[in-house]
Amino acid sequence: MREKIVDPRIQYINDLFAEEDETLKDVYLAAQEINKEGIQVSPYEGKILQFLIQLSKAKKVVEIGTLVGYSAIWMARALPKDGKLYCLEKDDKNAEIARGFFEKVGLSHKIELKVGDALTSIEEIQTDGPFDMVFIDANKAAYEEYLDWAFENIASEGVIVGDNTFLFGNVLRDEPEKGISKNQFSAMKAFNQKLADHPNFTSVMLPTAEGMTVGVRG
Ligand code: SAH
Ligand code: MG
Repeated sequence: MREKIVDPRIQYINDLFAEEDETLKDVYLAAQEINKEGIQVSPYEGKILQFLIQLSKAKKVVEIGTLVGYSAIWMARALPKDGKLYCLEKDDKNAEIARGFFEKVGLSHKIELKVGDALTSIEEIQTDGPFDMVFIDANKAAYEEYLDWAFENIASEGVIVGDNTFLFGNVLRDEPEKGISKNQFSAMKAFNQKLADHPNFTSVMLPTAEGMTVGVRG
């Protein structure tokens, strides 16, 4: 997530490694119009997603939680010509804005946007798997279910990424703070624990402002 007051070190990384072009600036503004700009990944996190795609030579990527397309555009740009990004988004208004951007910037041929609850959409896209990367960035209470699906549908050297996995610092606590449900709390703790413990994954949390847990299979 984009910090309101950007740490000067993060600003340095954003400026040097993750400069936004006009498209990404427009997507940011579109999110701002619906008061959702703060829940998109930051520029350097977009670049981390690109980096992971390139490093793992990912061709088929699933994004769970697209909002208006900011992180999706970072990822789609890193995919090869025959690559494909499945974007799963529950809210049809968000999806409509995202679709408009994907068309405008010439990425729609690489992106399949599915509107609806991701728990349903993941079942529908399953036959297109296995997937090289799964990026989880939606409703926190379902993170464990998304992870279990990803374990079943990830390619042999694939990467699983979960965003916001510090749960605003709550994963460090024994009980959730006010505003965080028990379901969100237990799902996020389980998400990190399962990736940490899985014998077939090399995993770590990147200590971004919000926490980004990554695991590579193999
Ligand atoms: N990845 C985006 C931000 C996603 S914000 C970016 O960084 O640019 C989280 C999104 O998840 C919201 O748009 C919300 O509508 C969506 N979402 C919440 N619950 C969902 C569900 N059950 N299925 C699919 N999407 C969901
Ligand atoms: Mg996020």
